[in-house]
Amino acid sequence: MTAARMDHAGRRDRLRAAAGEQGLDAVLVTNLLNVRYLTGFTGSNGALLVRTGGADLFGTDGRYTTQAGTQVPDVELLVDRGTVGALTAAAAGVGRLGFESHDVTVDGLRALERVLEGSATELVGVRRAVEGLRAVKDDDEVDALRRACTVADQALAELAAEGALRPGRTELAVGRELDARMLSLGAESPSFETIVATGANSAIPHHRPDTTELRDGDFLKLDFGATVDGYHSDMTRTLVLGHAADWQREVYALVQASQAAGRDALAVGAEVTAIDAASRDVIVAAGHGEHFTHGLGHGVGLEIHEAPGISALGAGRLAAGMAVTVEPGVYLPGHGGVRIEDTLVVTTDEPELLTLTSKELLVL
Ligand code: ZN
Ligand code: ZN
Repeated sequence: MTAARMDHAGRRDRLRAAAGEQGLDAVLVTNLLNVRYLTGFTGSNGALLVRTGGADLFGTDGRYTTQAGTQVPDVELLVDRGTVGALTAAAAGVGRLGFESHDVTVDGLRALERVLEGSATELVGVRRAVEGLRAVKDDDEVDALRRACTVADQALAELAAEGALRPGRTELAVGRELDARMLSLGAESPSFETIVATGANSAIPHHRPDTTELRDGDFLKLDFGATVDGYHSDMTRTLVLGHAADWQREVYALVQASQAAGRDALAVGAEVTAIDAASRDVIVAAGHGEHFTHGLGHGVGLEIHEAPGISALGAGRLAAGMAVTVEPGVYLPGHGGVRIEDTLVVTTDEPELLTLTSKELLVL
């Protein structure tokens, strides 16, 4: 259950307005995270019918009648084991019914068509309309993201202070300890499978922690986050154990400069491709372009990866309220790699930095 009461009615009204502009009479929302975003419902079966000219209808099955009453008190409830079919039947007769074409399977679409057979209703794919709304966070969401980032910051600070990041320990042990600490600090779960990569493994962008032991003089790359009230944080820090060699200081300083350039480029109206370029150009100019092998960042929210994508392949511009990561990396195969990642919120002023752990090279 969510602690804070978010403005779900306001979000449904934004979807209603967008649907009206597209000439739709109703939208059937089946993606569970989108249903959660629009209603607050956290169960495993739920769907929502948003009507442009009438009252909305929330559907679930009998297991969730009580939970729906608590979490979705402001939408009329329909309880039926065939939730989506029942909601669709309720919509039969409207002219144009939007559905989430990225979420409904081919079989699911046939089922919708069968329910609507004989009615004049036309099905219209709305693609990622709700995800588009979700890209811009409201104050309650930013607050949840802030708390998620604080948990991750604190977990790392505590582990570092306790000497848990020391030679002889395995990546797996460090990862499990980081996860456990985030949970004890209030996370519902880690945001994703925590990445702990040391030595040559740090050159693998998404290395899975294994029994490799931390060694003196190695990089230690940690990419992790906490989920709080359904919202994810995402942070990467790379540190060095024992003492840092010159090549490690050089690579680190390069990624640090690139990351700062990426953060500086986060402005309302900025093209996502330009933000990626601002950060990437620093690495390319140093001759390491081929060692930065992924996009610069991504949106974060109810999902760890959501709109907007910030990469050379992306499209669109930033808007105030978008929560995004900036995470350049330089990976030298066989040697080691550095990534530095923050989660930030775009504002009309400076972006708000949510992951507050220092980005100076930490030698533990
Ligand atoms: Zn990350
Ligand atoms: Zn990330």
